[in-house]
Amino acid sequence: MLSAYARLRDRGVACASSAADTILELFARMLFLAIRPNEITLVAVIGACSELGALGHGVWAHAYAVKRRLAVNCIVATALVEMYTGCGRLDLAEKVFTTASDRDTLCYNAMLHGLTIHGHGRAALTLFDIMPRAGVLVDGVTMLSVMCACAHAGLVDECLEYFDRMEIDFGIEPRIEHYGCVVDMLSRAGRLDYADKLIHEMPIAPNAAIYRSLIRACSIHGKLELGERMVAKLMRLEPDDSGNHKTRKEMKSMGIDKNPGSSLVDINGVLHEFLVGDKTHPASKEIYAMVEEIETRLSEHGHRSSTSSVLFDVEEEDKADTLSYHSERLAIAFALIASNAGAPIRIIKNLRVCADCHESAKLVSRVYGREIVMRDRTRFHHFRDGMCSCGDFW
Ligand SMILES: [Zn+2]
Ligand SMILES: [Zn+2]
Repeated sequence: MLSAYARLRDRGVACASSAADTILELFARMLFLAIRPNEITLVAVIGACSELGALGHGVWAHAYAVKRRLAVNCIVATALVEMYTGCGRLDLAEKVFTTASDRDTLCYNAMLHGLTIHGHGRAALTLFDIMPRAGVLVDGVTMLSVMCACAHAGLVDECLEYFDRMEIDFGIEPRIEHYGCVVDMLSRAGRLDYADKLIHEMPIAPNAAIYRSLIRACSIHGKLELGERMVAKLMRLEPDDSGNHKTRKEMKSMGIDKNPGSSLVDINGVLHEFLVGDKTHPASKEIYAMVEEIETRLSEHGHRSSTSSVLFDVEEEDKADTLSYHSERLAIAFALIASNAGAPIRIIKNLRVCADCHESAKLVSRVYGREIVMRDRTRFHHFRDGMCSCGDFW
């Protein structure tokens, strides 16, 4: 599998992960030279597996540590929790967490984050309540996870309460990411005027992500005037950003392009990578035929492509003609051809999944009877029987 990573790196696709590749290669060399790894080595290796979504390697590193009696201390346990949640195995993460001999703030934070990104908001809140009783300090990261957990579970008022309490009860000053979480939640809940007010009143300068949350909501709720105002602020903040639709065409002609969408799918331990509209895969012909077949079957089940919200859509992939060829569609089509019937499909995507691909994946899970686990830029989606664990909130 290491050679698969090397291949990706050579193509310049996974350049952000090249450090992780190097760590795994070094680890393999250490073992070959019979140099005994210690806990620090282990944490680096587990972190690399987490970044690459290389579950198989991660499980192996964990088993190696247990077998060689390397101390699974707090730091190693935290790394394992992060790796297992990052690879879509919340069950294994919980097992490591509950059996860890001691757990500090970082360890709790890792577990809280895992529960949150996997859509287990209520469980995250229960875990948070245990922290003070267990004598574990709460920090800004803890608060962010708890607020996101509320937001994802649709607990708007609870989230606002935690936001208000963090400074009073825990002495933690809200940072940009806390404001971002609240603005995003208010936007999704349709409380746009409140979000606008918060942006106006916050003591630190809003960032692009905050404007984007509100812009997206304005587009959904038809608040064009507020949306335009936020787009203007975003443009002022990021005049060179290639993601803005309004200037996308001009930018393309100037030679600036967006980060292309790419998806990795794991078939029997080998990673296959697809870019948007990719035709380089050896099975490309079959894959495109499968994409067509999926489209036909899904349309029989009432699926209609939606290309709305193009005006304000500032971070997803191109919609119009490439919709069916978004990288995850190709990855899913290939997995349906190449993996065993009924086997879960695991996909790692570099961008946020678009609404149409999300809808399509939900239907595929039902029509083809496959569980699909997709990690996108921000969170996990477990598609099963026509539903997604995110509750359409991402
Ligand atoms: Zn898409
Ligand atoms: Zn989802």
